[in-house]
Amino acid sequence: MSQGQEPPKKRFPLTLDLVTGTADRKRSSAAPRLNSLQTATRNAAKHAPESKVVASPTASARPLNTPAVTKLAPTVIQPRSTNSPLVSDAVRKAMIQRLAQQGIKDAKVLAAMEAVPRHMFIEPGLASQAYIDASLPIGYHQTISQPYIVARMIEVLRDGIEGKMSRVLEIGTGCGYQAAVLAQVAEQVYSIERIRPLHEQARNNLRSLLIPNLRLHYGDGMLGLPQVGSFDGIILAAAGMEVPQALLDQMAIGGRLAAPVGTKNQELRLIRRVRRNEWTTETLERCHFVPLRPGTFG
Ligand code: SAH
Repeated sequence: MSQGQEPPKKRFPLTLDLVTGTADRKRSSAAPRLNSLQTATRNAAKHAPESKVVASPTASARPLNTPAVTKLAPTVIQPRSTNSPLVSDAVRKAMIQRLAQQGIKDAKVLAAMEAVPRHMFIEPGLASQAYIDASLPIGYHQTISQPYIVARMIEVLRDGIEGKMSRVLEIGTGCGYQAAVLAQVAEQVYSIERIRPLHEQARNNLRSLLIPNLRLHYGDGMLGLPQVGSFDGIILAAAGMEVPQALLDQMAIGGRLAAPVGTKNQELRLIRRVRRNEWTTETLERCHFVPLRPGTFG
């Protein structure tokens, strides 16, 4: 969905058209729209009380506050049983088909998106919308990112590699959805959230999924996790004016980082660390995320 456009009005129960995006496709043949570049978090940005985006990440540097480290116990992903057809496997499969139509090619990413029950990360009142291609509010003026951008960022991070990435860091856990998807394609995933109640909400959402290779941290993600070492992939789920140097420094040589950059007009960037002191940057597409903010809250 493009920036500034209102999402289509939904009637309940949703038709499969709306869930699969075919309604959008039908509409677009009648009335041309901008390319589907919007990504995450317009709703939240609109209502966010703090409007300042940090221009200099290093200016806010302070010791990482990481008292709450949650290790989740092992098992496979097992969605809670539900009677609603809207949260069934079929609806999730329809989302996967739509992602493929939107250009997501990496089979491992599509499989990861299919494995994670997105409706379990959304409050019950909105769960019927879990598989539409939109960001949704998760509280504290934040949102769960739209499925397309979650898949897209992970795809560019993976760069088509055969196996799993080894160590990945996510900045902005939110409700924990993207972290759960990442955990399907990486050996170890670390995710940092600066808003304590959201960190706790993510921990609760993830508890029953029992994902052994995911660690949640409460703290300022702009500082990264220097105590963990270097990461072969880093994803930012919130947009700053630039990518914090601390995160660039925590990339492994050959590692990749995907991040939205900007305020109103944001772009998705892919940064590669080619040598110890050399990074390359590629601009991929327009996007819209909530702001990256320094420090912690709550
Ligand atoms: N990954 C989420 C998206 C969450 S929205 C998903 O699965 O959909 C982005 C999140 O980034 C918000 O929860 C916000 O609080 C968080 N955030 C913003 N700045 C941050 C920072 N400096 N450190 C950690 N989290 C941050």
